[in-house]
Amino acid sequence: MEYKMLIDGGWTEAASGRRSGVIDPSTEEAIATVPRASREDARAAIDAARDSFDGGPWPQMRTDERGDVLERLARLLEENAEEFASLEALNGGKPIRQASFGDIPMAIEHTRYFAQLAKTLGEEVVELPDIGIKSRVLREPIGVCTGIIPWNYPLLMAVWKIAPALAAGNTVILKPATYTPLTALEYARLAMKAGVPSGVLNVVTGSGSEVGEELVSNPKVDRVAFTGSTEVGRKVMAMAASTVKKVTLELGGKAPMVVLEDADMEEAIRGTLFGAFLHQGQVCLSGTRLLLPSSLHDSFLKRLIEKTKSLRLGPTSSWETDLGPLISESQREGVEGYIAGGLGDGARLVHGGRRPEGLERGFYLEPTIFDDVTSDMTIAREEIFGPVLSIFAYDGPEEAVDLANATTYGLAASVWSSDLKRAEEVARRIRAGTVWVNHHHILSCAAPHGGYGQSGIGRELGIWGLHEYTELKHLFLDESGEAMKDAFGLVSPE
Ligand code: NAD
Repeated sequence: MEYKMLIDGGWTEAASGRRSGVIDPSTEEAIATVPRASREDARAAIDAARDSFDGGPWPQMRTDERGDVLERLARLLEENAEEFASLEALNGGKPIRQASFGDIPMAIEHTRYFAQLAKTLGEEVVELPDIGIKSRVLREPIGVCTGIIPWNYPLLMAVWKIAPALAAGNTVILKPATYTPLTALEYARLAMKAGVPSGVLNVVTGSGSEVGEELVSNPKVDRVAFTGSTEVGRKVMAMAASTVKKVTLELGGKAPMVVLEDADMEEAIRGTLFGAFLHQGQVCLSGTRLLLPSSLHDSFLKRLIEKTKSLRLGPTSSWETDLGPLISESQREGVEGYIAGGLGDGARLVHGGRRPEGLERGFYLEPTIFDDVTSDMTIAREEIFGPVLSIFAYDGPEEAVDLANATTYGLAASVWSSDLKRAEEVARRIRAGTVWVNHHHILSCAAPHGGYGQSGIGRELGIWGLHEYTELKHLFLDESGEAMKDAFGLVSPE
């Protein structure tokens, strides 16, 4: 299928006429082509978004009217949920069960959440006790917002960039990842149908080095929301600095899963498999470091290996599949490089580590477990972004907390215990943006998502995520006319 991209309300080819292929990572077969945009195309989208913001109706619309448009978008997505789930599974290497019960329902709920939240945006009256009057604080849209997203949650990440930005009255240019542009383009198609005016939402398909850099550095852009690796996030921050753009960064992670001695072992093992191997470990929140008390280590590991063996690898279209392929050959080779590095550093490979037999086409890799890992090893420090779990043994909660915090990242963590008070004590001491007790990965549209340390800057979701798309204006309007009279005397005596 030949897709076009969305610029200024029109479905558009790249100015150069070039196209890029899109494949199914389960089979390596071509499934579509999209325009291969250049900086010139990115600039056209930025101009459209700029004109729509400066002259268009969207920023001035009542918040409930914008909310209604987003509500229609959520409804359209709901009506097309099955098609979206199939497309996400096909293009994103996401097992169909996960796409159907995870990605797509979340995309619907999160769109709907921001539709509702849009209506709460307005102005607040604040008391100024030092001046003795009431004043006003307004939340206004920032302007032209660009969103740059990765390939692991192609639709959900698009929703997180588009829905809050539009709810707050901004105009948007989204750049999907080159591997996974399809569901974002389909979401934009529904947005147009729902009544988003031309130019308010644009989706440009192209590379990070061309389109991505233009969307970050162009002076007509006011705000950049980037989700991706910490490495590229650093570049984005530096590029945005020259025009002091507002930036939020949602970057990598290296989440610990801390099992306490009194944890329900079966639950903790199920949680470990979910935490480590959901979407083949290609999740920023993935629990990649399993911290086990020495007393539990051997029995836990034995059972964990047994359960890991029962995971079913296969194509994403099958309802039986637990683990699909990695997104690309280069991603698989990168993960294999980490596995070789772990072996070289002396970690003990206790499960997996190879390409599975019988799945010759597609970028599959076995779920892999390393034991005897220490914090100085590369597999313990760097984000692998694949199905690789590292196990550490610890003695006592102090060591567990130290190990959990021994990372430059700080996106997420989980603590497993049957004593909620003990679990909470440990959870409070872990430096991460989200810490779950007896859970992993679960996200809510109403709770903030984001990282400490090098996992990022700012938050998405919740009221905090919406406020990231607003400027605050203090409107000083002294209705009594009394407040400042004395102050004028400081420079203009009567
Ligand atoms: P990536 O950093 O390689 O790419 C992310 C996006 O940035 C892509 O659209 C890419 O084309 C673009 N890009 C690349 N170079 C660019 C440049 N110089 N200027 C502007 N844009 C550029 O990441 P990826 O491999 O697509 O995704 C995996 C990473 O994303 C992991 O590190 C993962 O942890 C992270 N991630 C974080 C979150 C979060 O919420 N914190 C969520 C999902 C993924």
